[in-house]
Amino acid sequence: MTTLRNLPSIESLLQTEITAHLITRFGRPLTLDALRQALDDIRTRFKLDPETALPSNEWILTQAESTLAGWTAQTLLPVINATGVILHTNLGRAPMSEATIRAMDAVSRGYSNLEFDLETGKRGSRLTHAESLLRKLTGAESALVVNNCASAVLLTLSALANKKRVVIARSQLVEIGGGFRVPDVMKQSGAKLVEVGTTNKVRLSDYQTELEEPAALVLRAHRSNFRIVGFTDEPEFEKIVEVAHNAGVPVADDLGSGALYDTAKYGFSHEPTVQESLQAGADLVMFSGDKLLGGPQAGIVLGKKDLLERIKKHPLARAVRTDKSCLAGLSATLTHYLKDEAEREIPILKMMSLTLKQVRGRAEAWRDELGQGNVVEGRSTVGGGSLPDESIPTNLLELQVNSADKFLLALRKNNPPIVARTENDKVLLDPRTVLPEQEGALLVGLKNLLRA
Ligand SMILES: *Cc1c(COP(=O)(O)O)cnc(C)c1O
Repeated sequence: MTTLRNLPSIESLLQTEITAHLITRFGRPLTLDALRQALDDIRTRFKLDPETALPSNEWILTQAESTLAGWTAQTLLPVINATGVILHTNLGRAPMSEATIRAMDAVSRGYSNLEFDLETGKRGSRLTHAESLLRKLTGAESALVVNNCASAVLLTLSALANKKRVVIARSQLVEIGGGFRVPDVMKQSGAKLVEVGTTNKVRLSDYQTELEEPAALVLRAHRSNFRIVGFTDEPEFEKIVEVAHNAGVPVADDLGSGALYDTAKYGFSHEPTVQESLQAGADLVMFSGDKLLGGPQAGIVLGKKDLLERIKKHPLARAVRTDKSCLAGLSATLTHYLKDEAEREIPILKMMSLTLKQVRGRAEAWRDELGQGNVVEGRSTVGGGSLPDESIPTNLLELQVNSADKFLLALRKNNPPIVARTENDKVLLDPRTVLPEQEGALLVGLKNLLRA
């Protein structure tokens, strides 16, 4: 009769050659865990049904191997973005330039002068690294890099407006996504929210009235992901700044996407640039590193020196500080702008500046390589909380398949995963957002799936 006593012991399984290989690949403690789990599973099943035959050693080891593979599989993977959404938040926003990746790699491998002054041999500040580049590029007096734009806004409000009034137009009490809501951030910072105007209309006099009482800040939040149209009115930003300054109140501008270039030149509408906001008189400007700037995740606050000194000294600044690889990468990205090579080097700017003819050429090459599909007209978008509803013409490869949804699922399960979209039960692939070095893998994946 089979009893559980016939089950091999951990010790005997450890003697096998297969286990030795597993230990080399996954380490001893994890392999032991997996073997124990496999044996426990068998015991449980045997107790439920003593008629079950006990599996072979090979079967147990195969079971352990697949458990180990599952435990150690990476969940965060590179994917191919064939959606045509350039700053896809769910797909990690901006891909980074070669020089940016090299700079991040170099400081991550070893030690760096992150907080060490090479001149004096004494303690330095991590804040110096990107700051001079930001000042040179924008003309701002001072700058600070933190973890992301959300923390830049929270930190600014906490440092300057705790228990004080912050005046903002009602139409700017926005939700950016991922739970970032301007009124909630204000509450968190301790600032007292003072709304002016109505949802669709705000007048200069609305600001004037509220600024008769003391306030710490006037805030503008960019409507990054929606538009207000119709019976609307909002004073020019310069005018708001003028009214605020007359009342002795500084103005902070949460730009969000933070373009240094005018996106209008790529056929999108105009997105306020960092330089324009400063020229209009903003005392502080806040924006993201990984939106239209095209660099690593970061939040940047720049503007007046005295305000930035207060922000840098606030305890929260330590809690939201960036790491060395971000500072190295951001500096490399900013250097592209300084050297006027951003359009040649920064992936998202390259994507935006691709001509229709270039995109069509790639879509046609894909069609020819696959021996099927049609090249059709479509639109690429920016996404990622920038330029709402904005799109530019593109060319797509359209594939006719049995079930578009099933095909999309198979694409997502490809190695590397491919993300595409469907329309009218056809699969659409936009070459604009597929990095040139991913084209080979994309075509291999498509060929295999189309053949299956
Ligand atoms: C995107 C955005 C943010 C948040 O930026 P993160 O870098 O994602 O934290 C804040 N404000 C505005 C206006 C935005 O568009």
